[in-house]
Amino acid sequence: MAKIFLVAGHGGSDPGACGYGRKEKDDVLRLTLDVGAALSKLGHSIRYNRTSDVDTDYYGYINDCNNFGADICLSIHRNSFNGSASGYESCIYANTGRTKILADALNAGMAAIGFVNRGSKIRPDLAILNSTSMDAVLAEVGFIDNPVDNALFTNRYNDIVKLMAESVLKAVGATGSVSVPNGGASTPQSGTDRTKNLGNVDCIYQAYTDRWWPKVKNREDWAGASDGEPLRYLGICVSKGSIRGRVYTEKNGWLPYLTFADKYDINDLENGVLGDGSPIQAIELYYITPDGYIYKRVAYRVSDVNHDTFYPVQYDDETGNGQDGYAGMFGVGVDKFQAWIE
Ligand SMILES: [Zn+2]
Repeated sequence: MAKIFLVAGHGGSDPGACGYGRKEKDDVLRLTLDVGAALSKLGHSIRYNRTSDVDTDYYGYINDCNNFGADICLSIHRNSFNGSASGYESCIYANTGRTKILADALNAGMAAIGFVNRGSKIRPDLAILNSTSMDAVLAEVGFIDNPVDNALFTNRYNDIVKLMAESVLKAVGATGSVSVPNGGASTPQSGTDRTKNLGNVDCIYQAYTDRWWPKVKNREDWAGASDGEPLRYLGICVSKGSIRGRVYTEKNGWLPYLTFADKYDINDLENGVLGDGSPIQAIELYYITPDGYIYKRVAYRVSDVNHDTFYPVQYDDETGNGQDGYAGMFGVGVDKFQAWIE
């Protein structure tokens, strides 16, 4: 199994390039996490420079990457110029070895997706390329100040994730069929004809307090131990489509989003379930309806450790009309959780 270091460019107080209401730091974080999830699903060991919107120490994470002994490093960015430039490019130190394999695969694949192919650019001045001890590519995934590139980024998002994961596999000489765990996204493809009825979708979930409690399906019960004991991890999945979620914890605030299809993994506390071991105070969920089907939503509710009764039901990450975008309250642990798909 390969060791792969992924860099989501910029972050925190450094938004990177901006355009059309988008920030490079957000686009690349989501992309980096989804590429990493696809690769870790195949058993590869992934390390990131960041997994949330935080400031990073550039030379610090280059050291991390070297200490990790990564087989390859992929740094993900988006470009900007004057609004008229467009396309994908790979920045490299030298056109040799794994660097060449990765850059060539990305250049060709991005061109097939529809980006103008700007090819590989030799950039010996970039520290991520000249100070890493393994092969490395810095990928500029289209121009954020160009509406055509942004449309490709949004509409072909799943294909981009798949391409990047497959290109990394090719470079490290690994095989395996990449599936995109994230149904692609917050932004559903526009123009998709959604006329079919998906039928019943089950939501399966399971809570950890000081141990894992039994699985719960839909509204058959609720997950948790008893009143007053906060949930510390939450596994959740759905019988069709996928569900994206994140939790707000006492220790770290909002954790990164994770997406689950028909299973979660209680043996992988990092990426297999939601939570960090400290009390969960709020939960945000979004049901990703498969393409072609009429949208469904996840309905969910929680109670806190100080009350017996549930708060009102939250639908997806909707806000307004009494909806907060999440269930729970910052500062108080959640002790009961219930979810179903409508
Ligand atoms: Zn950048």
